[in-house]
Amino acid sequence: MTLKWISLFLVIVGVFVLLISLVPTKQICRDHSRQPQAFGWNILFVLICMFIVGYAAYAATLLKLQGSVVEFVVALILFGGSLFVMLVARLSLLSIQEVKRIAALERYHALHDELTNLPNRTLLYERMNQLIISAKRNQTPMIVMIMDLNQFKEVNDTLGHHCGDQLLQQVAPRIKSALRESDTVARLGGDEFAFILPDTDIEGAKTICEKMIQAMDKPFTVEGHSLKIGASIGFAKYPDDARDSDTLLQKADVAMYVAKHDSSGYAIYDVDRDLHSLNRLMIIGQLHEAIRKNEFEIHYQPVINVKTGRIWGVEALVRWNHKMLGLLGPGEFIPIAEQSSIINELTLWVINRSIEQFSSVQQYDKNMRLSINISVKDIQDSSFVENISSILVKHNFDAGKLHIEITESSMMTDSKQAHSVIAELHKSGVNMSIDDFGTGFSSLSYLKQLPAKILKIDKTFVIDMIDDDNDAVIVRSTIDLAHNMGRLVIAEGVENKETLEILEILGCDYAQGFYICMPLTIDKLAKWVSLKNKIPLVVN
Ligand code: C2E
Ligand code: MG
Ligand code: MG
Repeated sequence: MTLKWISLFLVIVGVFVLLISLVPTKQICRDHSRQPQAFGWNILFVLICMFIVGYAAYAATLLKLQGSVVEFVVALILFGGSLFVMLVARLSLLSIQEVKRIAALERYHALHDELTNLPNRTLLYERMNQLIISAKRNQTPMIVMIMDLNQFKEVNDTLGHHCGDQLLQQVAPRIKSALRESDTVARLGGDEFAFILPDTDIEGAKTICEKMIQAMDKPFTVEGHSLKIGASIGFAKYPDDARDSDTLLQKADVAMYVAKHDSSGYAIYDVDRDLHSLNRLMIIGQLHEAIRKNEFEIHYQPVINVKTGRIWGVEALVRWNHKMLGLLGPGEFIPIAEQSSIINELTLWVINRSIEQFSSVQQYDKNMRLSINISVKDIQDSSFVENISSILVKHNFDAGKLHIEITESSMMTDSKQAHSVIAELHKSGVNMSIDDFGTGFSSLSYLKQLPAKILKIDKTFVIDMIDDDNDAVIVRSTIDLAHNMGRLVIAEGVENKETLEILEILGCDYAQGFYICMPLTIDKLAKWVSLKNKIPLVVN
């Protein structure tokens, strides 16, 4: 009799266990509803229901029987079977949930930027494609923006990458606070961010740009440094400018470059300015050929002694006589050349050509110096110093008359390497000048160690120094600073008499600028020097 009740108990508990196992099985079936395994799980669900009916029928039969050992064994097997089903269902659900959790985490990592936790390029495209579909369906406008931080490179170069990273982490929440919940922000890499603003027109986009620029203009505090970064934004409109993600982003990028170039904060995509980017592509392709075909030419801008008015030397400034685009200034192709090793070839060409041409002018003034601009890529070229030395030997040119100008910011980009190249050049007798001084973030202690004889004050400070007190203060303190460190100063960008007079009062050593003389071809320079030194021109 006891066996009968134990058997009955086991079967009834088995029914309950089976009933409970229906819950995870149902959940698995629901989660797999769109997957190939759905069929298998649905069959299992039906089987469990059938088991329950079977168990219930057996329990009813047991009530009528006496309770033998065989019935007990069958009840035990059924009970074990129900536990087995329940464990399989439960463990399967747990594994599936774990796999899903890991997959979600992986997806999050694959679609988000690790540093800022913002969506990355892949997620941006995914969302943009969806938003384009809904904008098309609802016939609503949409704006795609690209924003680039203005001073990020300087922060990275001077304060190190960890500070750059911290800055980016602070930038991300500021961006979000300037946008709506429905807008998408993504980090494209480096200091470049993209925003998608659904259902937004040009006026709305302009308001957001202004808000964003204001947000980025407020200083950031990184490791105790207060950093003013600023940003440039470009935007393109759906459907007017483009109807697909790639082209929208590309056009927003063109607009961003325009904003950066014009220092205008933000710019709307404009087809006319896009020609500029086509030219850029054309330039990249033609640079190599242009060196071979001798399409570059050098113009020389005299530098004079502020006190005596005598010529100190000239600065060699390269130009490209492009067959289709006309005479291009260095700003149009040097940054492009700097993106590849072409710049090294071009720099050596400029050094070689200018030294070659310079002897024709030196006959009117033996003391004249030749100053040449180099790029950060040149100091990274291991054979740079050796190449200069062999050019000097080839032309029998006095190393003491050659000045190499390196901008303050490129010096900071690779300060260790810059320091060793400068030291090597110094050993070989070549002089160094720090160009565009005041625009970088170089520290005084670093400058003190450099064997650079001359600091060139950037023209942006000199041009406005008469009207802008801040600029005047910068010029005056740079002159004092340089003199206190035993260095000489060249002020560039002297555009009028008053500026030259003030520079003389401030004790500036040398000056160059349109007021003194525009950059000239070698023939015109020879005339200018012969006239200035009252020596008759030698006609070859
Ligand atoms: P930089 O070395 O600071 O050269 C001075 C620039 O200021 C020149 O522009 C010159 O024409 C311009 N300038 C001179 N006086 C005045 C003035 O009174 N007012 C104004 N507004 N501008 C004045 P340019 O020739 O367009 O050169 C621009 C920059 O391109 C140079 O700046 C230099 O960094 C770079 N560059 C020029 N030639 C070379 C080169 O052969 N190699 C490299 N790597 N860079 C070069
Ligand atoms: Mg220069
Ligand atoms: Mg300069």
